[in-house]
Amino acid sequence: MIQQSLTQRLNLAIFAVMALLAFVISAWSYKVDLQTMRAQYTGVAGSLAPTMIELVVLDQPETVTEFNRQLRNFPQLRGLTLMTLQGEVRYEYRRQDTALACPRDLPWLAPLADGCMVIRQKLEFESAQWLNYAMEVDTKELQTQIFRQAMMVVMGTLFCFWLIYRSIRRWVIRPVDELVAGLPLMGSGQVKFPYAGVHRSELAMLARTLESSDRQLYERQLQAKELNSRLEASLQAKSDFLANASHEIRTPLNAVTGFIECLEAQRARLTPEGQEQLKLLQGASQSLLHIVNDVLDFSRLEAGELKLDPQPGCPSDFLQRVHAHYQGMARLHKVEFGLCLDPKLPARVVMDEGRLEQILGNLLTNAIKFSPGGQVELICRAQSGDSDYCQLCFSVKDTGIGIEPQKLAGIFDAYTQADGSVTRRFGGTGLGLAICKRLSQLMQANLEVESQPQQGSCFTLSLTLPLSQPGSAGENRGASSELERPLQGVKVLLAEDNISNQKLMQVMLKRLGCDALTLASNGQQAVDACQRESFDLVFMDCQMPVMDGYRATRQIRLGPSAETLILALTANATEEDRQRCLDSGMDDFLAKPVTLATLGEGICAARRRQGKQASQLP
Ligand code: ADP
Repeated sequence: MIQQSLTQRLNLAIFAVMALLAFVISAWSYKVDLQTMRAQYTGVAGSLAPTMIELVVLDQPETVTEFNRQLRNFPQLRGLTLMTLQGEVRYEYRRQDTALACPRDLPWLAPLADGCMVIRQKLEFESAQWLNYAMEVDTKELQTQIFRQAMMVVMGTLFCFWLIYRSIRRWVIRPVDELVAGLPLMGSGQVKFPYAGVHRSELAMLARTLESSDRQLYERQLQAKELNSRLEASLQAKSDFLANASHEIRTPLNAVTGFIECLEAQRARLTPEGQEQLKLLQGASQSLLHIVNDVLDFSRLEAGELKLDPQPGCPSDFLQRVHAHYQGMARLHKVEFGLCLDPKLPARVVMDEGRLEQILGNLLTNAIKFSPGGQVELICRAQSGDSDYCQLCFSVKDTGIGIEPQKLAGIFDAYTQADGSVTRRFGGTGLGLAICKRLSQLMQANLEVESQPQQGSCFTLSLTLPLSQPGSAGENRGASSELERPLQGVKVLLAEDNISNQKLMQVMLKRLGCDALTLASNGQQAVDACQRESFDLVFMDCQMPVMDGYRATRQIRLGPSAETLILALTANATEEDRQRCLDSGMDDFLAKPVTLATLGEGICAARRRQGKQASQLP
């Protein structure tokens, strides 16, 4: 398109200039011819002047015949009229073959258009004016001559046009065409203009510049690709590291939190000092678990692996539970902690309580942490809605230290803390709000903050939730007796290589009612045990020596215990790990560290979901 329009415009411009030139040349040569002709016939009049004076001034009629004969010697003279200076006509001559007079008197157009012209003049002779005369001259020859000249000018102009066009095409249009054609290849390292090295024109300079820019661009792209792949590799390494670190931390943490729970059951038997230490231990293990979960959640959110699990529930019950849960922490920080619920809250909505609690929990933890001795309020308002949806606004408001305006913009960025000294005073990883923001995006919700230094902050989460009718599917979470002792009379195989976790699971499974437990320290032992006898339920660790849990499960599924309910119990806690467990044939997945409650709930949920296998359990 560009090339075409450039060529067309150039052609048009050259053509216009050439046409104008041809016109000017023709007009000029016409003018010169006309002047020559006028001068020639004025000269004729001069040579005939004595006779003309005799005829008009001296009135000698005998000279007429001789004068007529003289005039016939000028074949192009069509007529002549002689008048006195006062305008009285004294003589008229007209050739026989040109009876008609010139139709127009225009001195510049008539010779070309009508083939004749009229010359009106006063006759001067010996410095005196004698008479007026009007000469009609035939200009047909002039017409032909002018036409011939015009043809030659046009031919010459066309030839020049062709010559100029050829050179412009060669020196301008073609190089520009090549430049334009090379532009899409910029950055490929293959741009080459044949004339770039040969010529010295501006276009050749431009071509050389483009060639070197192409090479630079290509090299930069290679560098960018290299950097990108290094970045990807380091991101992968980061993810792998997080997954590994999380696995390695979760395994001992499972034992720590589990045994703390066991000690908690025996709290009454401890001395007051022991009870105090147990409390501190619980706090420390909870904080550790919280950090590990945050790090893992964040990497799962970053990788887009985290999925929501919305279930029907009552928002005010849920908020009361959350409020009760953070009361202890508020008391510890001497914070007055209130709950304000909109009376118009819907009875039931479909929400992911776990993730919603995670967001509110983070906001509440911060609010309490940053408002020592102040006030914190958890507020929920029903904004608007229709018969299917409602919009809820959860706010966490505090009267704490607030956030500087310049820090507010990046407050939801990962690893951000408003002030380094704040971190030292209050602790924290800087991941909490980033997780909240990403979770809220996952819920298609909006999380905002308003804050004034030393006056407090207000974080608001607005989201639209579907309404749920009471008794909808998914609300039956199992009878409480089943939850308390779900393993009563159930024959269990535990495949676990870590001694501490084996011991812990023995205690926990016993407390869930299990009194027939077989231990396997690796996958091979688990497969052998399943060949020997049948089990109702297998807890399978994934990473074990000799044979890992995935392979062991596949082999068990091929043997006599193909229908056995197999639950992964692993410190590999990502969605990818979960999928890998399910793909290898396991029925469900429990991530370490597990508490007695999560273990019990997990067993019941798996039994419900795997109706067929559950029916095989007594
Ligand atoms: P952290 O785990 O470090 O608290 P967050 O992402 O939860 O990380 O918070 C990031 C930073 O935002 C905090 O270090 C603190 O400076 C600031 N912040 C968050 N909530 C509040 C609040 N309610 N009042 C004052 N500052 C807050």
